[in-house]
Amino acid sequence: MKTIEFEHFRKMLTVKQAELSDGRSNRDAIAIETTADELDRIQQAQERDFAMGAIDRDSLRLREIRSALERINDGTFGMCLNCEEEIAAKRLAAVPWAALCIVCQEVAERAPSDFEDQGEQQLPRAA
Ligand SMILES: [Zn+2]
Repeated sequence: MKTIEFEHFRKMLTVKQAELSDGRSNRDAIAIETTADELDRIQQAQERDFAMGAIDRDSLRLREIRSALERINDGTFGMCLNCEEEIAAKRLAAVPWAALCIVCQEVAERAPSDFEDQGEQQLPRAA
C-alpha cells in the first residue's frame, strides 16, 4: 500500500476515533435520575441498558480503530492478520478498521474462538 493511502486511512480512522471517543450522549443516558414513578424507572432502565450496549459496541470499535492505527504506523495496515493476504480495497473503504480479509472474517464469525487469545479453551474442540 502506498504512503498516500496510509495517510488517507489514518485520517478516516482518526476522525472515527474522535467521534466514538466523544460518547457523551451515551453516558448522559446512563445517569439515572431518581423518580417516584415506577414506569419511568423501568423505561430509564431500558434506556440505560440500550446505552450500555452502545458503549460496549463503541469501545470494541475504538479498540479496532486503535489497532488499525497501530498497523498503519508499523506498515502492516491493509494486510490480513490471519493469512497475510491484502484486504480488498473495497472492504477497507467500507470498514477501514478491518483486521481480517473477508475470507478469514467469515471463518472467524463461524468459529470466533480460533481468533481469540490462545488462553483457556471453554469447550473441548471437535476434531
Ligand atoms: Zn485472511
